[in-house]
Amino acid sequence: MGSDKEKKFVEEITPMDEDFAQWYTDIVKKAELADYSSVKGFMIVRPYGYAIWENIQKDLDRRFKETGHENVYMPLLIPESLLQKEQEHVEGFAPEVAWVTHGGSEKLTERLCVRPTSETIFCEHFAKIVQSYKDLPKLYNQWCSVVRWEKTTRPFLRTAEFLWQEGHTIHATAEEAEEETIRMLNVYADHCEEVLAIPVIKGQKTDKEKFAGAKATYTIESLMHDGKALQSGTSHNFGDNFAKAFDIKYLDKEGKLQYVHETSWGFTTRMIGALIMVHGDDSGLVLPPKVAPIQVIVIPIAHHKEGVLEKSYEIKDRIAKVARVKIDDSDKMPGWKFNEYEMKGVPLRVEIGPKDIENNQVVLVRRDNREKITVKMDELENRIVEILEDIQKSLYNKAKAHRDARTHVATNMEEFKDIVENKTGFVKAMWCGDRECEDKVKEMTGATARCMPFEQEHVGDKCVCCGKEAKKLVYWGRAY
Ligand SMILES: [Zn+2]
Repeated sequence: MGSDKEKKFVEEITPMDEDFAQWYTDIVKKAELADYSSVKGFMIVRPYGYAIWENIQKDLDRRFKETGHENVYMPLLIPESLLQKEQEHVEGFAPEVAWVTHGGSEKLTERLCVRPTSETIFCEHFAKIVQSYKDLPKLYNQWCSVVRWEKTTRPFLRTAEFLWQEGHTIHATAEEAEEETIRMLNVYADHCEEVLAIPVIKGQKTDKEKFAGAKATYTIESLMHDGKALQSGTSHNFGDNFAKAFDIKYLDKEGKLQYVHETSWGFTTRMIGALIMVHGDDSGLVLPPKVAPIQVIVIPIAHHKEGVLEKSYEIKDRIAKVARVKIDDSDKMPGWKFNEYEMKGVPLRVEIGPKDIENNQVVLVRRDNREKITVKMDELENRIVEILEDIQKSLYNKAKAHRDARTHVATNMEEFKDIVENKTGFVKAMWCGDRECEDKVKEMTGATARCMPFEQEHVGDKCVCCGKEAKKLVYWGRAY
């Protein structure tokens, strides 16, 4: 690897302050997370990107099972007649549905849609398997991909096909369904904050922003480095809307027929985009240790010198007992390797050369703040565990400080516009509850209602838009 090429490797990243969108795309490519495919809007998730998704999956799947859910798998295709059973739902999704019209060379008698989400197919199944209150609740989840024919796409954030999980549950009572909806929102929030180190605001969507066919949609919202919001996970309470459309009934204890109450909730690969945009810097990705495919990279210095490689492997084996570790003993220059693993956001680098061996120590370098820490050989495992925990916490605290610094209160539309255009970030403002004002805010500022937070505050008496009596505090923002 020549020095020109090493230099180029670093220069190819656009600084985030210069062009945030290009910086994002550069990281997706350079960190080898994803690539474009020959079908527009469909992305290839590369091994390193997929390994991040697997870590997200593992943690969420554990939390789903701990809360009593079972994994299932539903078919990819949904008959048109089934999709059309719930009117609001079909209207919400119809514009972005992909259709299968032929099987081989034969035209199908009924078009089949590639699932944009699977409520309808779950409902058809629930109607068949539920007869009595004894069959309830059903707590299902599936890991799969869905297709929504988006016109403008960006890797991870908005793609025509994306990976996700969709939970679908049915319950005997409205109260149980509501409890489930909130429980799963909390599962998402805990995962985001504890594993992805991304602080979230929990709240309810306005009627305008809620899921097609839902009675209530709850959401967690996070803030990216550029001050734009990202919807990070949603949980929907359908009440008995779908049960009525699909005739899902059960006999209660008194022998009376009742409709079930239903929920669904989803979490997607767009959160890999969030990891980039919350923690990344001008050298590339910065991954929280809990989600990092490689937590520690061992880089031998002058590895052709006697004993260096042996010692490096010995260290790697010791670290493997406490962390996900990899060694790079390739012939690339150490400087190239430093850049490479910084780009990939590996939380901790271990450097070991002849001098370190002589002094019975190694040098650790943190990715998040670049701090160099010399560690005695016999303290290696303990120090690594401690430092990884500290990185995890620091990343969360830094992201939270950033979000808090970019959360502003507006009491009139002048202030509102100034925040959106100049300060960026979340706008906290009171709202009267009318759709008209919500539309007008969007028209004037480009900001949408992100959520009505569960933790309501009182920052004024009047609607920020019309001046009428306010009903709710809303978090607003421009969003991905
Ligand atoms: Zn108003």
